[in-house]
Amino acid sequence: MDNILITLDHVGFSYEADESEAQVEALQDISFSICEGEYIAVIGHNGSGKSTLAKLMNAIIQPTTGTITIREMTIDNQPLDDTTLLDIRKTVGMVFQNPDNQLVATLVEEDVAFGPENLGVSIEEIRERVESALSAVGMLAYRNHAPHKLSGGQKQRVAIAGVLAMKPACIVFDESTAMLDPRGRKAILDTMKQLHEEEHISILHITHHMNEAVQANRILVLDDGKLIYDGTPDEVFAHHTHLCEMGLEIPQGAELIKRLKAKGYAIDGDGLEPMDCVTSLLSMMEKGEIR
Ligand code: ADP
Ligand code: MG
Repeated sequence: MDNILITLDHVGFSYEADESEAQVEALQDISFSICEGEYIAVIGHNGSGKSTLAKLMNAIIQPTTGTITIREMTIDNQPLDDTTLLDIRKTVGMVFQNPDNQLVATLVEEDVAFGPENLGVSIEEIRERVESALSAVGMLAYRNHAPHKLSGGQKQRVAIAGVLAMKPACIVFDESTAMLDPRGRKAILDTMKQLHEEEHISILHITHHMNEAVQANRILVLDDGKLIYDGTPDEVFAHHTHLCEMGLEIPQGAELIKRLKAKGYAIDGDGLEPMDCVTSLLSMMEKGEIR
């Protein structure tokens, strides 16, 4: 049996009522586990509770009902002590949507060092961590650059390096590709895949792009604060009529390429963008593999 890293047990979360608005029950009765090294996508329409789920995963907010267990740490609606909170933040890292809000320093390497410095890591080890984190995201050559001069995708990779330097077991990406152009998006998706395959970090990728979700081994679907489906991409996409009713579109190009690969065709690309799909099919035709 795989090692379980995080378990949510009947978790509910409500935002407090204020003068203008009634209490919002953002999540209801959510139960699932994440194993060490798993790569999971979470999809759902706007307002379905995805960001609320993300914030619960590293105790930015705490459950109103139910419990979250991260390794031996338990999070419920009781206050957490500082040591536990720090251990949670070390175990589960978070990458948000807007890279501009995540970068604080004037040099890339200072930014990446910021997290481990706060953990009290030795200077020597910080140096090692910064180097290996920047290499892992392909940004070592930019170590002495100013973050604000980088492209959106590069900034997001520096933000990921900052999280990696904390040596987390799990990284939650909350719509971290949403503000990027197709190239930046691809770079972040490739980085996620590599962190999963080479660093064995658990990935929770929150997205409303279904075509990004196919890259995961497992997909969770949220609808109005409830966990509707939890399964492999094939299992989840089999419910296409229901998904369409929830406003989620099936990624046809990516599905097609995946099925062709499964049938043994040596096909390039992943069909994440419709044009990639066209290019892949054309190249198969040119090679005479399909007619
Ligand atoms: P998603 O990330 O899937 O778009 P969210 O988790 O942000 O969904 O929101 C879930 C629900 O909680 C929505 O109805 C949203 O309006 C509400 N909500 C989110 N943040 C707050 C907040 N700070 N205060 C009150 N309600 C909120
Ligand atoms: Mg959100």
